[in-house]
Amino acid sequence: MIVQRVILNSRPGKNGNPVAENFRVEEVHLPGNINEGQVQARTLYLSVDPYMVDPKLVDGHLSYFLGAIGMPGLTSLIGIQEKGHVTAGSNQTMVVSGAAGACGSLAGQIGHLMGCSRVVGICGTHEKCLLLTSELGFDAAINYKKENVAEQLRELCPAGVDIYFDNVGGDISNTVICQMNQNSHIILCGQISQYNKDVPYPPPLSPAAEAIQKERNITRERFLVLNYKDKFESGILQLSQWFKEGKLKIKETMINGIENMGAAFQSMMTGGNIGKQIVCISEETSLQSL
Ligand code: NAP
Repeated sequence: MIVQRVILNSRPGKNGNPVAENFRVEEVHLPGNINEGQVQARTLYLSVDPYMVDPKLVDGHLSYFLGAIGMPGLTSLIGIQEKGHVTAGSNQTMVVSGAAGACGSLAGQIGHLMGCSRVVGICGTHEKCLLLTSELGFDAAINYKKENVAEQLRELCPAGVDIYFDNVGGDISNTVICQMNQNSHIILCGQISQYNKDVPYPPPLSPAAEAIQKERNITRERFLVLNYKDKFESGILQLSQWFKEGKLKIKETMINGIENMGAAFQSMMTGGNIGKQIVCISEETSLQSL
């Protein structure tokens, strides 16, 4: 089978503008049949983005393009911008579930950067709670596996919850929603606790939480970052700027080797990661050698 591939032919140079001739298309022969252990993929769309392959945006940490200066970072930033209704100076309290993960660890920091006065994280280990409060600027953290979430929320959010960045759904979210204020807002980022259950999306709330949501006029609209592509370029630049200014701390959990892909996925789904879970295929990060 003959297929086409696009090759980086040359670089524009330090001060040059990219031109079409920096790329060339060539044809290569692929075996028609695939063998056991191989997969065949067909490319349907290619994205061209102004911020691609500029390692300066991440100070050379190329893996950050998969996390904080990539899709998860954009999800946290755009989710808060579009659905959070943060008003700086109005003493809002934000709660983040899945708070030590890729999106959650950034959402809490961005909540503060955008003007929330108090940010409380919910996550699954003592180590994660410590990280949130000691390194990432969260005001408090709750270990949902060891502590009573409802009691802790009452103590840690005495003025109630104004914005809930929801990564997990299920019991945790029902509990948070019951302590949300009138006219408050849920950022429906994800519902990881429900993904392996046969339920519609978004999954229904408990009857008590649903009644409170309606009675208190709490918004809970679907949010998908891919619907906001027009905001990606400015979002990446904002995230990069905060990172370079030291305002956005980035955490990753790195596993080496393509053979560990499945283990990394399982670990992420069961809480083994802090920040973005990454599988490192090659430690060679010099773009010139690619
Ligand atoms: P992540 O938070 O880095 O990793 C998943 C984390 O979820 C785990 O580390 C675990 O942490 C927690 N978790 C797993 N099962 C749980 C359960 N039953 N109850 C409570 N917590 C549980 O993953 P991510 O990539 O940042 O994604 C976070 C959420 O955002 C996901 O729901 C994902 O689908 C969603 N998302 C949405 C968009 C969008 O456009 N809306 C885009 C990207 C991601 P603990 O140790 O705390 O349990």
